[in-house]
Amino acid sequence: SSITDSADPSHALFEHFVQAQTCKETQQSFAELCRHLQVEPRDYKHFYSKLKEGLNYWKAKDLWQKIDKRVSHADYEQGEACHENKCLVLGAGPCGLRTAIELALLGSRVVVLEKRGSFTRNNVLHLWPYTIKDLHNLGAKKFYGRFCCGSIHHISIRQLQLILLKVALILGVEVHTGVTYEGLLEPTGSAGWKAKVSPKTHAAAAFQFDVFISAGGGRFVPDGFKIKELRGKLAIGITANFVNRRTKEEAQVQEISGVARIYNQQFFRALQSEIGVDLENIVYYKDDTHYFVMTAKKASLLKKGVIKQDFSDADQLLAHSNVNQEALEGYALEAADFSTEHMLPDLEFAKNHAGQADVAMFDFTCMHRAENASLVKEKRGKRLLVGLVGDSLVEPFWPLGTGIARGFLAAFDTAWMVRSWGKGVPPLEVLAERESVYQLLSQTTPENTSKNYNGYSINPTTRYPNLNLSSIKPRQVKHLFCSQDEEIKAVKAKKPELKAKPRKDSIRRLEELLSWCQKHTAGYKRVKVRDMSESWRSGLALCALIHTFRPELINMSLLDEFNIIKNNKLAFEILEREFGIAPIMHPSDLMGCGKIDQLAMQYNTLSLSRRRSAV
Ligand code: FAD
Repeated sequence: SSITDSADPSHALFEHFVQAQTCKETQQSFAELCRHLQVEPRDYKHFYSKLKEGLNYWKAKDLWQKIDKRVSHADYEQGEACHENKCLVLGAGPCGLRTAIELALLGSRVVVLEKRGSFTRNNVLHLWPYTIKDLHNLGAKKFYGRFCCGSIHHISIRQLQLILLKVALILGVEVHTGVTYEGLLEPTGSAGWKAKVSPKTHAAAAFQFDVFISAGGGRFVPDGFKIKELRGKLAIGITANFVNRRTKEEAQVQEISGVARIYNQQFFRALQSEIGVDLENIVYYKDDTHYFVMTAKKASLLKKGVIKQDFSDADQLLAHSNVNQEALEGYALEAADFSTEHMLPDLEFAKNHAGQADVAMFDFTCMHRAENASLVKEKRGKRLLVGLVGDSLVEPFWPLGTGIARGFLAAFDTAWMVRSWGKGVPPLEVLAERESVYQLLSQTTPENTSKNYNGYSINPTTRYPNLNLSSIKPRQVKHLFCSQDEEIKAVKAKKPELKAKPRKDSIRRLEELLSWCQKHTAGYKRVKVRDMSESWRSGLALCALIHTFRPELINMSLLDEFNIIKNNKLAFEILEREFGIAPIMHPSDLMGCGKIDQLAMQYNTLSLSRRRSAV
């Protein structure tokens, strides 16, 4: 049956798109709408206005008004600010999509890669007041009528992704699902920076870009970035989603906004004595599902048979093989039932992406935070601005609901950085400003950020009071400008003996260096040094060379021959830290099938041969 009373088929197609409840349905109905209206999303610069023009539909007016208001913000300079930039965004999680929207508003071409084929995350996110306003201003209510209707403001991850996907598509962002990003490919010939993707033949493999935004979530950090680890006491989180049938009884059950143990000792004592479930806190939100998230104590999980065997190492403790799934389901169900005073009838687990009961156990002991939010790479004269946003920049502590709030702040800050990049601000200045703003992110709260939510824009000064945009100076971020062109030039200039000596002499030296390397790597498994290029690709040879002199620095048996980035990163870091040899290549230089820079390899090994005696 038709969901619109209008005779124009494009109106029905638009309604279908607006109401779509899955990622696929959204993409398909959007493609159909575009075909019908004969507007081409690849024509990203004019796409939004053409779509609006073609779809003369009163019911869409409200949405256009909201989007127009955003589009016309002075920061975007009518889409001219970044009209020459091409941006690749990794990850269609909430933060990747939110960033993509801003980059499109700035006028750049934006391609998003998402490895998953569907949006299936039921987990529910708590929202800060500014994020609610932000989403309202993007038309969230048009796409999801129930947006922020409840007593506590929250939204499921998948509904949030759907809203943002729809806005992104309307603004001409290309979103490719089912495509995995596997690494950066350096410029070759006249081509610029590209991404290695899987499936290899996907059209996104041909996209050349000058901005790369990584929003791959939790543990995904592209190389070049260093991570700080904050280790707290063991914290085990459990999430559980139950089917919401939206009955009257269910509607009446009170949500729990976060009952911390210290505030409600009686409740937690009763929970423990009556059913043996021992928690630090529990949250219950009613959304598409009945969503519970709790921090459980190890002893009670062991006692209830959820964790089979005790280990001090959190990875071992929570390893799949050490968890009794049925007991976990029972534990979560009992906790949910008790904390809602047995008022939720027929608690039945919702299904997760794999079609199983949606209950999961996480280790929250370690929180990661990137040391820097940005860097610039340069190769063959082609510059690439790289930025991190969302959980891959700062992993949130879920009980505080910081994931989306800080994630969106970083999305705006990143868009501001791309704006400066697009306007031709020198790289070191772009980086210094971005890092100055990043310093504030981890301290942000709803209280210390500006309350003028309507005034929020990508300009950081609209959101952070007392911001000093130049607290970090360009000279302090030199290390974030990784110009391999400059470094190689500098090395060549510094090490004339490698190039400028008479040919015979340099060949003799090279042979000596090669045989020195062979001698000191002999006997290592999976290492065979035949030359100064290909033999070094896996990184094992360089690790072996270090290991020969300083065995305590590397555990060779833990290295995986195929983890090229990790091995080379480890070797370069040790060379720098322990031997004072500054890296002149990047682990990603060894990825793919590009030629390995022999001169750089000679520099690494020669420096090591000279310095090992001094160490
Ligand atoms: P993600 O949502 O993780 O998205 C990353 C995307 O990148 C994914 O879709 C992934 O498939 C894709 N991807 C990864 N690698 C690749 C690749 N190589 N190629 C292509 N695609 C790739 N936040 C709150 O604000 N409030 C809360 O109450 C809250 N509760 C939480 C409870 C739990 C148990 C957890 C785990 C998190 C919670 N969070 C909460 C945090 C919230 O889930 C995240 O902050 C939010 O989803 C982050 O968005 P993101 O876009 O950075 O990353």
